[in-house]
Amino acid sequence: MSKGSRALSARAAGITPSLTLAITAKAKKMKQDGISVIGFGAGEPDFGTPEYIIRAAKAALDKNFTKYTESSGMPQLRAAIAEKLRRENGVSYQPAQIIVSNGGKHALLNAVLAVCEAGDEVLIPSPYWLTYPELVRTADAKSVFVPTKAENGFKLTAAELERAVTPATKAVILNSPNNPTGAVYTRQELEALARVIVEKDLIVISDEIYEKMVYGGAEHISIASLGEEIKERTILVNGLSKCYSMTGWRVGYVAAPLHIAKAIDGLQSHGTSNINSIAQAAALEALTSAEGESFLSDMLRTFDGRRQYIEARIDAIPGLGCIKPQGAFYVFADISALLGKSYGGKVLNDSLDAAEAMLDAGVAVVPGSAFGSPDYIRLSYAIDKADIEEGLNRIEDFVSKYV
Ligand code: PLP
Repeated sequence: MSKGSRALSARAAGITPSLTLAITAKAKKMKQDGISVIGFGAGEPDFGTPEYIIRAAKAALDKNFTKYTESSGMPQLRAAIAEKLRRENGVSYQPAQIIVSNGGKHALLNAVLAVCEAGDEVLIPSPYWLTYPELVRTADAKSVFVPTKAENGFKLTAAELERAVTPATKAVILNSPNNPTGAVYTRQELEALARVIVEKDLIVISDEIYEKMVYGGAEHISIASLGEEIKERTILVNGLSKCYSMTGWRVGYVAAPLHIAKAIDGLQSHGTSNINSIAQAAALEALTSAEGESFLSDMLRTFDGRRQYIEARIDAIPGLGCIKPQGAFYVFADISALLGKSYGGKVLNDSLDAAEAMLDAGVAVVPGSAFGSPDYIRLSYAIDKADIEEGLNRIEDFVSKYV
């Protein structure tokens, strides 16, 4: 065999292709063929980026703001992020502790690469966002999944965390508000986790990308704000993709202890350099203009209405159930009552089978297997209300054939 044909590194060869993308591709093909499919897969708000942000980007272009910036992001933007973290999250960082990256994903990759290596274990509460294990693998570290319980709202408890720690544990990844479950950790829950993290001397990578998307009185708390000891062990990850509806602009960031921020800057300076200068100018405006508030409250009102509708419909379908999501824009529905059942000669063994069969019934959902929970499916409500209604009619009809 020539070297060329076996040239893939184990790292690249080991990456799991996204299950989500496979279903999305099939749904797209069906739509192209003229078949009606309601897609519940959306991972981004169905709102345009607010006009005031777009104006700032146009102004940056008109000023020819088109050159390299500092690799970690332009100083005004890092200062604005530090100010945002102080004002909204009650946590104090110097701009030097903030590194702006190509979306939350890149910020997470940087965080994992900066602190993890071969021999390290990284605890990932399950269900989990499907990218985390792939990032951990990229750093040659090992993902250790810690199952959470539906009765605890899919939130990792301090006792579960403590039990999972071994001498090899380097870090834990927390995500609140959560994708896929919509769980939002309370202050008390985070305080209990923080005590274990400090006691066991772990690092916490805290993914707060959905921070503003909380409903029904739930409050987003940044674990870094719970005291100096936990802040010293936190890599806070956030970005503008979801809350400012800027997924395509690719603006994310970490806030971290200075030595970690410097290491991340080093990595990033060679890997990608700064993110797009126009997106930085837009992000600066997004974070500093008062116009963001009204956009956000409109979007949240819309999401909350859809959330309540979808949750009530799911509750009313015999054979389906869900934990009430408090954040993000997903509902994680329990389909265990369907598993093992058959219709038309086809048995549903897991969520992947269910998602495939649902696609034939005209609804695209994301199988829970993608998030480590084969008894669930994820429905996004970042789609039109009329589509949600029609999609749930189809799901109701589908489920009635099995239960
Ligand atoms: N973290 C979670 C939990 C997400 O769901 C996503 C996007 O789907 C991200 C991070 C990454 O967001 P970005 O588009 O900024 O890379």
